Amino acid sequence: MKQFKTESKRILDLMINSIYTNREIFLREIVSNASDAIDKLHFLSLTDSKADKDFAITLAPDKGARTLTIADNGVGMSREELEKNLGTIAESGTFRFKKDNEAEKNELIGQFGVGFYSAFMVAKKVEVLSRAYGEERAHLWISEGSEGYSIAEAERENSGTTITLHLKDKDEDCDYAKYLEEYELVSLVKKYSDYIRYPIRMERAKSRKKEDGDEYESYKEWDTLNSMVPIWRQNKRSVKKEQYDEFYSAKFHDYTPPLKVIHAGIEGTLNFSLLLFIPAKAPYDYFSKDYQKGLQLYSNGVLIMDKCADLLPDYFGFMRGVVDCGDISLNISREMLQQDRQLRSLAQGVEKRILSELKKLLDKDRETYDKMFAEFGVTLKFGIYNNYGMKKDDLKDLVLFYSSTEKKPVTLKEYVSRIREGQDSIYYACGENAQQIDRNPKTELLKEKGFEILYLTDNVDEFVLKVLDSYQDKKFKSADAKDLGLETEEEKDQAKKEAEDNKPLFDFMKESLSGAVKEVRLSNRLKSNAFCLTADGEVSLEMEKVFKQMQGKNGMPVEAEKALELNPAHPLFEKLKRLFETDKDTVSKYAKILYNQSLVTEGFPVEDPGEFAALVTEVLSN
Ligand code: ADP
Repeated sequence: MKQFKTESKRILDLMINSIYTNREIFLREIVSNASDAIDKLHFLSLTDSKADKDFAITLAPDKGARTLTIADNGVGMSREELEKNLGTIAESGTFRFKKDNEAEKNELIGQFGVGFYSAFMVAKKVEVLSRAYGEERAHLWISEGSEGYSIAEAERENSGTTITLHLKDKDEDCDYAKYLEEYELVSLVKKYSDYIRYPIRMERAKSRKKEDGDEYESYKEWDTLNSMVPIWRQNKRSVKKEQYDEFYSAKFHDYTPPLKVIHAGIEGTLNFSLLLFIPAKAPYDYFSKDYQKGLQLYSNGVLIMDKCADLLPDYFGFMRGVVDCGDISLNISREMLQQDRQLRSLAQGVEKRILSELKKLLDKDRETYDKMFAEFGVTLKFGIYNNYGMKKDDLKDLVLFYSSTEKKPVTLKEYVSRIREGQDSIYYACGENAQQIDRNPKTELLKEKGFEILYLTDNVDEFVLKVLDSYQDKKFKSADAKDLGLETEEEKDQAKKEAEDNKPLFDFMKESLSGAVKEVRLSNRLKSNAFCLTADGEVSLEMEKVFKQMQGKNGMPVEAEKALELNPAHPLFEKLKRLFETDKDTVSKYAKILYNQSLVTEGFPVEDPGEFAALVTEVLSN
């Protein structure tokens, strides 16, 4: 007996202990795997005349043996595939789960696509007899649950897979024998698998009048249980939300219903059906290198490619779904598909549609849009930033930033629609989160004067604004900018004089900080706060952090040109002036404390925490 790989064992245990209460979904999972397997062979069979063309999935309940058998004549699995596909799941290193959190567990199952394993919710023993297309030998995989599995050589007439479920004994939760009842199976197929494109057949007991008289006789007949029209080919009006949700979870193993469904028949140079979903949650590997974007590509109902990456630009990489286009030629090889002209124009059509649907969502259903953006907004922002801003005009109206006055994410258009007369800049400030930025001294005066400020909290945000440069002729201006344009001429003159008068103090403080700042100067952006740290030049404080993160310890440091600003109206400034006359040594200590404190406010680590702590204690004790 072989052991399951450890991760599989944990998930299996989790599953078998019936954390997923909706056990009936096992049938949906097995049937959609069967349908996928037929899809794969269907494609091959177009070029191979020997392949079986009478594709079907059959259900066979056997009350005597207490088994339910589900068979398909798809591609099947080789010995290695049985090992790989059914012996391992969730190898990913990001595997985490909390034992006590129901919701999280459910999500986990969805995320890892443990479709096949759901069989163990109803079966105490599962047998998988499979023969891979093109192979002579079949193999029988048997498992009784989390302990492990065995594989042995076996016989099977044609390629395909037969799964036999030995149903569990009745317990207080469930009488599993119900999954042997015809009506139960019929209704499960209708409910979950009606759209499956291949016939799901079952032999059913029927009765009819005997030809010679009034007596009835019973007989058996194979029935097709599903209507077989793929959901994306059905009329939008006749498809219910539940059907979309079911299709989505069966196809993409995500048990959280999608945020939004886009279903369209598109006519143009190419005609195609499009069925897209915006997931409610980013998949567990979404922000890792393992994540693969892409849509399923069908041609007239034949699956050509499972994840066609070229159909989705990176900035819509979070979308899932299906494109079915009859105009794409079928006999084209998968490698050639990548350069195919038709494929490119199909991709353009898809992109155009997604753009217009997202705009519509933003206008008509802001709540859903906000949810989408919270989950995937960063992807859209990267879309603006990447490729030298090639797509910035398409995407600039789709991004949101948190607004200081609205207290929620807003579009640039909304900001500009409220802009005050004579205001020619869109103000922004950066930081870890909105709360932190809100407390930053630098935003104080702007807020006090009633300006709206965009709070940028994603690493990519500032780069996005740099690429955009302006929006509707309004330049983006950082709360760090040397001249915020808030002062009157009179105030400016006064500030200039004060700066000149105190130049020796500022120079002395700068010296004390031995090169950490480029300048110590008067501030024109503070109100009640005594001091703040700003950056001049191209590299902002936030960018310095981003570069540090990217480069780690070794790279050439990219640093902001920092300036320590003092508020002339604050009592601390008076104190510094006085001390400068009498006790320069203390001014030097103050300078270090103020600088380090401003680093903390900006979310930087203190340069030498030990020295800083000692200094603070010393000054406090004086
Ligand atoms: P998923 O469908 O998300 O990949 P499953 O656990 O349901 O996860 O299935 C694992 C893999 O086993 C499938 O990807 C497929 O390669 C293979 N598989 C499952 N059922 C069949 C089948 N009936 N025929 C051929 N391959 C199958």
